[in-house]
Amino acid sequence: MQSIAIVGAGVAGLGAAYALRDRDATVTVFERAERVGGRSATRRTAERTYDTGANYLKEGDDRVTALVTGPLSSGLVETEGPVWTFDADGAVSPGRDEDERKWTYESGIATLATRLREAAGATVETGTPVETLRRTGDGWAVETGGTGAGGSSAGESAAFDAVVLTPPAPETAALLADADWDHPDRERVRAAAAAVPYRCILSVALGYSHPVERPYYALVNTDREHAVGWLAREECKPGHVPDGESLLVAQMAPDWSADRFDDGDDAVAADAARRAAALLDDDRLRSPDWHDTVRWRRALPDEGVDAVSVAAARDHDLYPAGDWVAGEARLHAALSSGLEAGERAVD
Ligand SMILES: Cc1cc2nc3c(=O)[nH]c(=O)nc-3n(C[C@H](O)[C@H](O)[C@H](O)COP(=O)(O)OP(=O)(O)OC[C@H]3O[C@@H](n4cnc5c(N)ncnc54)[C@H](O)[C@@H]3O)c2cc1C
Repeated sequence: MQSIAIVGAGVAGLGAAYALRDRDATVTVFERAERVGGRSATRRTAERTYDTGANYLKEGDDRVTALVTGPLSSGLVETEGPVWTFDADGAVSPGRDEDERKWTYESGIATLATRLREAAGATVETGTPVETLRRTGDGWAVETGGTGAGGSSAGESAAFDAVVLTPPAPETAALLADADWDHPDRERVRAAAAAVPYRCILSVALGYSHPVERPYYALVNTDREHAVGWLAREECKPGHVPDGESLLVAQMAPDWSADRFDDGDDAVAADAARRAAALLDDDRLRSPDWHDTVRWRRALPDEGVDAVSVAAARDHDLYPAGDWVAGEARLHAALSSGLEAGERAVD
């Protein structure tokens, strides 16, 4: 029986755990945050549900599609309406709607991770960051931090035959920089991960007690010249918003987001609402009833990693996975990458 450690419980890490569910292996997932899901994130109030990171899962990988429409399908819903486009001047047009099916869950996209966790059946230690990796002959010692609340293994060092590494590239690079692993491939893999550039995004939820009727679900800025990158009507997701209300999710452009990353929520929301009002040509939208901002410093990898360099890790029982390894900043790509890493880890 092999023992496998998985660092990170986003969809890549939990996908790896799922791939290992019927294998002759004990699997432990270490997650720094108190919740699973990573950038597949949802916030909920008593009446409303809104996706603050990834907005939907598209059909992009046959295996992932079979998984979400099969074993993970409980509560899966399709977002209604097309995605239209807008340009630097805010001119809206039907554009192209590439994604035929846009899945989320009635309880939000974070449920994708919850479903994976249930189906994988692995031990998942939340609130337990991996702090140090140490090469030990044929395996790895994994040292964790955190509070140890809830009986987790925080502060301990445990031995594993292989490690699946799914933090975003800069955090994977930092773990490798600090790793106690005396081999030239440590620097090779670290440098490849450290070179992956990331975009930052502020995601601003704007709530209104009146409906906002439009022929589309969302607008995407195709020339990347507008301060708003994405503007979506959360009410197009079944079960997310009470009838008669609207909930706009504005994902602000990377430059705008970087400039205002540390501004207060009220200032961020006021500017986002002003721009949403202009795009949708409705002055009422300048004054939301409530707002909520989520800050993603490392929202999306802009490029994939150098695949040849990162593959060198596998010779040392180390399996990087995630959207940055897949070369596509999408849920289906991250999940597919995790499934593949999990399978390789027990080969
Ligand atoms: C604003 C935004 C909008 C997006 N929109 C879409 C969309 O509409 N459709 C789509 O398909 N994709 C979208 N994406 C991209 C999608 O969310 C990601 O591609 C996907 O979630 C990446 O999954 P992952 O498992 O690779 O990484 P993550 O989800 O980042 O998971 C990595 C996990 O590792 C944990 N971790 C990090 N360091 C450690 C450590 N030392 N020890 C333990 N745990 C650690 C983190 O806490 C995290 O939970 C969006 C992302 C953002 C931010």
